[in-house]
Amino acid sequence: MGMFGNGEQSPLTRRRFLGWSQGLMAAVSAAPWMSARAETEPEHPAENEDYYDKLGIDKIINAAGTYTYLTAAVMPPEVQRAVAKAALHPVVLKDLQKASGEYLAKKLRCEAALVSSGASAALTLATAACVASANNLKPEQIPQEVGGMKNEVIVQKAHRYEYDHAMQLCGVRIVEVVTVEDYRNAFTRKTVMTNFFNAAEAGEIDRKTWLNIAHQHGVPCHLDAAADMPPVENLWKYTEMGFDLVCFSGGKGIRGPQNAGLLLGRKKLIDLAVQNDNPNSDAVGRGMKVAKEQIVGMVAAVDWLLSRDEAADQAEYRRRADVIAAAVKNVPTMKSEIFVPEIANHVPHLILAYDPAVVGISPTEVQKKLQAEKPRIELNPATGSTGRLGTHSNENTIVVGTWMLQPGEAEIVGRRLREVLTHPRA
Ligand SMILES: *Cc1c(COP(=O)(O)O)cnc(C)c1O
Repeated sequence: MGMFGNGEQSPLTRRRFLGWSQGLMAAVSAAPWMSARAETEPEHPAENEDYYDKLGIDKIINAAGTYTYLTAAVMPPEVQRAVAKAALHPVVLKDLQKASGEYLAKKLRCEAALVSSGASAALTLATAACVASANNLKPEQIPQEVGGMKNEVIVQKAHRYEYDHAMQLCGVRIVEVVTVEDYRNAFTRKTVMTNFFNAAEAGEIDRKTWLNIAHQHGVPCHLDAAADMPPVENLWKYTEMGFDLVCFSGGKGIRGPQNAGLLLGRKKLIDLAVQNDNPNSDAVGRGMKVAKEQIVGMVAAVDWLLSRDEAADQAEYRRRADVIAAAVKNVPTMKSEIFVPEIANHVPHLILAYDPAVVGISPTEVQKKLQAEKPRIELNPATGSTGRLGTHSNENTIVVGTWMLQPGEAEIVGRRLREVLTHPRA
């Protein structure tokens, strides 16, 4: 173990230690271990070293949106400052978890809150809490003892998604239902929880009916609203509607750190989620650690968000869409439309529809061209494909998400799109 007890010392920690110790070294210059250490000290990296450049990583222009594979949102300066400041001092992790949870619960009008390492981790911790509550299980018994106990989670067939995996980490079994009648019949003495995928585009059972029936059976309901802010009131709407647990991604619309998220809901269940979370080591949430910087960043992001003028932000996203639409309006056959998805990513998306046979390049070819240049531009993944934005995108549409663009980038995207569409073989 190193002298800081963590096996290895970060260069930063060592530098700070050495900075502090310079006076001491002058006084005790005979101390052999200290001078030996100083001789092997690496050179300080330049103050403004850019590690993306050092690693050969392109910085992208994000004309897509808050997609995980594109590192989702960039934190606003206020949040970046809070993160940097939190990095300067150690604290007791559990105390920070507790205080941040209490602060967020007040701000977001729910009984209790927990900063998780993302919406997916929040869903795992929600599941662990419901399993623990139904079976009176200790964290160290999840998942290996769950198979023989109450372990059923009810989900609408149309709400099955990749994140089911986050629940299955706790050893539960998913029970699919389609009709309200199926749903009523699905409750057994083994039911521990239900999950509602808020942005699902299909499913016969609405939120209120879903809640009422589960609560008649005394079963808690989790709602996954990961990407469903804005509007900001969604942060309290669903808990106030009666959902026992609700998760949000911290790094999408909320613009906190990408590896942070929120689990909001009933105190009794949040307390159980906390027990199944790190820093407890024998727990399903041990690998889902949120560092002090990200916990503070999450709180700062919520503060930042609550201070925003949402209408003004939405108007700015629309202005950017207008800038890009204007840049390509003379491309033959071009028609532009602004589309705001109903639930997830509820912000203006620019849809550019044209005839590739006339223009000479398809939307997916345009997408690849913009990815290949510097600066690399990433269009929305619905570009050139059907199904991702309902009927609003197809093989003949380019889709631009404008809300993650930085100042001046809408103009660049507009110009580059115009160049590629007017000189497709350049
Ligand atoms: C993005 C997303 C998640 C995962 O969010 P993370 O914060 O990246 O863990 C979960 N559910 C839905 C519906 C999402 O869109």
